[in-house]
Amino acid sequence: MAEDAVISRLRGQRGVRLGIMGGAFDPIHIAHLVTGQEALHRYHLDEVVFLPSGIPPHKRRELTPAELRYLMVVLATASHPQFSVSRLEIDRPGIGYTVDTLESLASLLGPESEIFFITGADAVLDILTWKKPERVLALCTLIAATRPGYDLGRLASVLAELEPELSRQGQQVRVEVMEIPALGISSSLIRERLAQGLPVQYLVPEAVARFIEKNGLYRGAGQRAEGPRGDPGSDCATASG
Ligand code: ATP
Ligand code: MG
Repeated sequence: MAEDAVISRLRGQRGVRLGIMGGAFDPIHIAHLVTGQEALHRYHLDEVVFLPSGIPPHKRRELTPAELRYLMVVLATASHPQFSVSRLEIDRPGIGYTVDTLESLASLLGPESEIFFITGADAVLDILTWKKPERVLALCTLIAATRPGYDLGRLASVLAELEPELSRQGQQVRVEVMEIPALGISSSLIRERLAQGLPVQYLVPEAVARFIEKNGLYRGAGQRAEGPRGDPGSDCATASG
């Protein structure tokens, strides 16, 4: 398999502050973009790489085919000079765990670089269900973005469970809570609105809205093709876990 263009570009770069934003992006919406932009600005990142998920570990619903989700992320991010999209997760066979993606990226970038894994409050509160959460925290700084409906007040007690193992390994918990303008938007909401024939203009970038319409996506049940129903959860680099 040919190497992803973003991965090729990152290989061997030194001293990079790299943001990673994982998700199913089914479809990508403006809260994803606001979150990526805020992280870029707040943590002085060089770049934010969006990583659409392949088969997420906690797949609870069928996803739109990865190629279409990937294309929507490309459409949404193409004009931003510091946003890019990687095929790393969608081209990898099997279930994608955050930890495996972070291991790949860390070995690619070398020790002087820093990886910031950007998640929403819902995803980060699930961290104990992820594969090797201590290792995830050793490999990256986790940015937990506020999200309406999810209380990050619980985060400290969740992280306390990981602390003993991390300090045994001489690692610190590196988690940053990032306040972002509250946007009560989710991909689920976008899908529901489309299924009901409601407008999604301004909730997703215009090019994404056109792509959805052109391809007849999310019009109702039965057009999905990638697994059982439900939120894919948060332990894919591309979503959660
Ligand atoms: P779904 O409703 O299908 O779960 P979603 O809107 O949660 O979709 P995902 O692709 O599951 O989108 O999420 C990707 C990442 O973006 C996750 O870390 C999630 O927490 C974060 N995120 C999504 N929407 C928001 C939002 N409105 N505010 C903050 N973070 C968000
Ligand atoms: Mg979600």
